[in-house]
Amino acid sequence: MATATATESGSVSLVNISTEKWPPRHRTYFGSLEVRSPEPGEAYAITPIRGCTGVIDMGDKRNMDIRITAREIAEDIAREINGDSGEGSFHGVFVAAGTEPTETELADARRRLKEFQSRLVAAADLEWERTKNPMFITDLERRAARQLGVEKPWLYDSRPLAECPVCAEKIKHGVAVCRSCGAILDREKAAQYGLVGARRRERQKDSENPSEAAKQEIEAGK
Ligand SMILES: [Zn+2]
Repeated sequence: MATATATESGSVSLVNISTEKWPPRHRTYFGSLEVRSPEPGEAYAITPIRGCTGVIDMGDKRNMDIRITAREIAEDIAREINGDSGEGSFHGVFVAAGTEPTETELADARRRLKEFQSRLVAAADLEWERTKNPMFITDLERRAARQLGVEKPWLYDSRPLAECPVCAEKIKHGVAVCRSCGAILDREKAAQYGLVGARRRERQKDSENPSEAAKQEIEAGK
C-alpha cells in the first residue's frame, strides 16, 4: 500500500447481483465486513463502504497514518471476491460509480456473470465427456449450471457402477450386500435391513479399533 489519495471521504456502493452468500471479509484497518446478497425478488444488494484511516508500522516505533478511501476499499473487496475462482472469474460484485447502480452497470455485470458461468458449464461439459465422472465436476460448475437454468447430466449423481472388492462384479454404489457373491460390503446397513445380525457388542469393539475391524471385514468377505 504505497499511495492513497485522500480526496474521497464519503461512502461508495459495493453492488452484488449474485444470490451467493460470501463469508465476511477481514482487513486489519476496518475489521470484518459482510457483503450483502440480494433477497428473493431483489435484483441486487448494496453494501455501503466507508473510507477509513489505517496505520502503517514503519519500524523503530514509528507509525504512519494512511487514509484509505471508500473506493479503494470497495475495489479491493470486489477484486478479492471476483478473483476467487481463477482467470477471468467474476462473481457479480462491482463498485457503482454513484450511490445506486445504473442500468448499464447492472447489464454489464449480468453479462460478465453469465459469460463466466457459461465458461464454467463448458468446462464441466468437457470434463464430463472425457471422464463421465461427477467427482470431477466442481460445486462452482454445478451452481453455474443451476443459475443459468441449464439441464446437464452431470448435475445429478449418475455415478458409473462400482466394483465389488471381493468378486470384481459391477455393482451400484452404496449397496450393503453384493448381488453377485453375497459379500457384506456395508455391515451397518446390512444389519439395519436384517440381512445380518446386528452383533452390537462386536460393533462396539470394532469402533474402538477400526483397523482390526477392517481386517475382519476383509477376512469375512473371502
Ligand atoms: Zn461380489
